[in-house]
Amino acid sequence: MRESAALRAALAAATDDRIFFDLTGIEAQYAALMRELPGVAVRFAMKACPVDEVLACLAGQGAGFDAASPREIERALRTGVPADRIHYGNTIKSDENIADAHRLGIRDFATDSVEDVAAIARFAPGSRVFCRLATSGEGALWGLSQKFGCSADDAVRVLQAARDAGLTPSGLSVHVGSQQMTAEAWRAALDDLTDLVGLLNARGILLDTINLGGGLPALGCLDKRGRPLDPPLDKMFAVLREGMQRLREESASPLAFLMEPGRHLVADHGAIRARVSRLTTRCRPDGGPGHWLYLSCGKFNGLYEMDALQYRLEFPGHAAGRRVPAVIAGPTCDSDDAYDHASGHVQVPAEAASGDPVWVHSCGAYAVGYTTRGFNGFDPLPYTCIGGAR
Ligand SMILES: *Cc1c(COP(=O)(O)O)cnc(C)c1O
Repeated sequence: MRESAALRAALAAATDDRIFFDLTGIEAQYAALMRELPGVAVRFAMKACPVDEVLACLAGQGAGFDAASPREIERALRTGVPADRIHYGNTIKSDENIADAHRLGIRDFATDSVEDVAAIARFAPGSRVFCRLATSGEGALWGLSQKFGCSADDAVRVLQAARDAGLTPSGLSVHVGSQQMTAEAWRAALDDLTDLVGLLNARGILLDTINLGGGLPALGCLDKRGRPLDPPLDKMFAVLREGMQRLREESASPLAFLMEPGRHLVADHGAIRARVSRLTTRCRPDGGPGHWLYLSCGKFNGLYEMDALQYRLEFPGHAAGRRVPAVIAGPTCDSDDAYDHASGHVQVPAEAASGDPVWVHSCGAYAVGYTTRGFNGFDPLPYTCIGGAR
């Protein structure tokens, strides 16, 4: 995955630190996903890129939204998509959140507990619920196994409680973990869903929707040690197609399929133009890394995931020349504001000087939302969107 010529031109022309989103790239990514998974409806996970132009671009392509709070719902509605293309995908919500969402027209709610179902019945009467089934999170850079989802037995109880409370038990959802690297994770989730659909059908609960969640990977970022991640995307899509077919055959009622990709649609189409703060050489008593390259942006304003992965860096003024291995770090006084200290050495130009531009690639996901209000006085990055059909 390489950034487009238009994105590179925008980075080259930038005169300040800034994050760029390539809307043409995002549209192409969406179209590619639709080709791989025909008939699957996308509900973009807004938290991955809460930028109005990006949301409008995806809405224009036919996407709906996976929203996690009333504020996200309002933002999704501002794109002009109808409320029935937005669902409340967060299993965690207060009474007030549910009532606000209901008032905004939302009728589809994720859940994973009978307590939440009771609240939905009270504050969003007549709505549809889908129950989130837990997954192991194995194979993902960020497994989401602890906080979300329930067992198959609990899912039966939850959906029966929904039916008894006058709600529509409409479906099941999973999330196999963010930046999932294995097709096996999808296979396991689809196996579990297929078994559970059979179990529910036997109890007279007929579903209409299966939500396959997020987790599809970005292609252009690197692991903690700087190695390409290279996820087996084709295999993942094949497993998804085959699993959906099996689910259709198993289900006693017709099923529609949704996905909630976040990272996959935007990560590789965002890039930051930052600058070198300084390249230093230090002798440390513990024999720790000698060279550190500090950037003008970091974990708190754009590179939130820098402790778990590496972003590809490009030093446009230093295409050739001697390189030295350095740990990459952001500008704040927080030691987490850095690539993994133990393994995160990157070859950087030995002549890198304060003020030199640096391009940070494949950082379009989880950049804008995960930013502080100016920790240590480093402000959120401004952004610019380029390209796009409108
Ligand atoms: C964050 C999230 C997503 C998106 O995850 P990605 O790994 O970015 O695709 C999808 N669904 C839910 C419920 C989420 O919380």
